[in-house]
Amino acid sequence: MKITEVKVIVTCPGRNYVLVKIMTDEPGIYGVGDGTLSGSELAVAADLEHLSQLIIGMDPSNIEDIWQKVYHCTYWRGGPVFMSALSAIDLALWDIKGKVAGLPVYQLLGGQSRDDVWVYTHAHGRDPQEVEEHVRSFHEKGFKFVRAQLTGGYGGYGGPGMLKRVPSGREGIPDTDYFSPEKYLIETPKMFEHLRNALGMEVNLLHDVHEQLTPNEASRLAKSLEPYRLFYMEDPLRPENKESFEMVRRSSTTSIAMGELFTSRWDCLPLFMKQLIDFIRFAPIHIGGITEAKKIMAMAEPFQIRSAFHGAADIGPIGQAAAIHIDYAIPNFGVQEWITFHPSTYEVMPGACQLEDGMVKLPQKPGLGLDIDEELAAKYPYQRAYMPIVRRVDGTYHVY
Ligand code: MG
Repeated sequence: MKITEVKVIVTCPGRNYVLVKIMTDEPGIYGVGDGTLSGSELAVAADLEHLSQLIIGMDPSNIEDIWQKVYHCTYWRGGPVFMSALSAIDLALWDIKGKVAGLPVYQLLGGQSRDDVWVYTHAHGRDPQEVEEHVRSFHEKGFKFVRAQLTGGYGGYGGPGMLKRVPSGREGIPDTDYFSPEKYLIETPKMFEHLRNALGMEVNLLHDVHEQLTPNEASRLAKSLEPYRLFYMEDPLRPENKESFEMVRRSSTTSIAMGELFTSRWDCLPLFMKQLIDFIRFAPIHIGGITEAKKIMAMAEPFQIRSAFHGAADIGPIGQAAAIHIDYAIPNFGVQEWITFHPSTYEVMPGACQLEDGMVKLPQKPGLGLDIDEELAAKYPYQRAYMPIVRRVDGTYHVY
């Protein structure tokens, strides 16, 4: 079998996605992948066009060899754009392998390690009472894990700490949010006190900091949230300085999850080796695909670190499915972030994973289980998009 073509598909059914279809010389056998990197979609697409020439003519069944060839071909390797492009290729190769074998991808990864893959979703509100009502509405739908945020700026992390929003005045250019860490650090524990009083101690609550605090601020937050027994505190610090986590770790027993912005095994290893975190949160489609994600989770295993793969709306249904197949297969699964997509996203990528009672149904179809409707995808052209802009209250850009 040979790779004959790599189709790069950029589409915007509700939001932008960068997809690939790897075609082969075997009739009807092709693989689909997702390399979406929010705010840098066209850069990933250009890289995919460039890399595709390297793999045309290769046997798609040799996934590891293709991975190594693509990874090393650039000499200056790595980085989010490149790793997302490599991930998209890797996913499509696993999809092909599954289709050829007639097996879902999790079977190729060693089979089922658990009965259920639990997910968490996002509750928010303008005050603690509203957050409580939103959490309860998810419990009624069967969710066992819920992330709780006071509404503020991007991802709802800032809550009352997000003091104002200044519109950019230009279409497609994001507004600027002004954030006060002090106010955030005062109000967030109050919200969890309310939630625990209202909901009891046994429900699984999470909270996302979106990398906005200094080590000392994050330590204070972890300590103040300790009585409320979070399932974990997510992404407390910027991703660059791994040693900062030692301070947060020493400050409390609040569980720590990190890694939404990680794009390499070398981001993960320093945190693993000192057991500075409890959950690793990279997205398989940003770190090198299924091949690399499986290896990193094996590295995490001896340090008793579990998975909590990033799965917000920027990871499309194909990237979500890749995470779910790994979740079912690895022994050290923790929880999976879950989002419901825009209805047109499901039409462009039919076959998405399904949720039942707060758990993802075991994928049954060969490969990843999804397809890409190219004609429909073409009806949703790319829309220019950026990530949010956050400044401190005095106008300083968030630099630490
Ligand atoms: Mg997050």
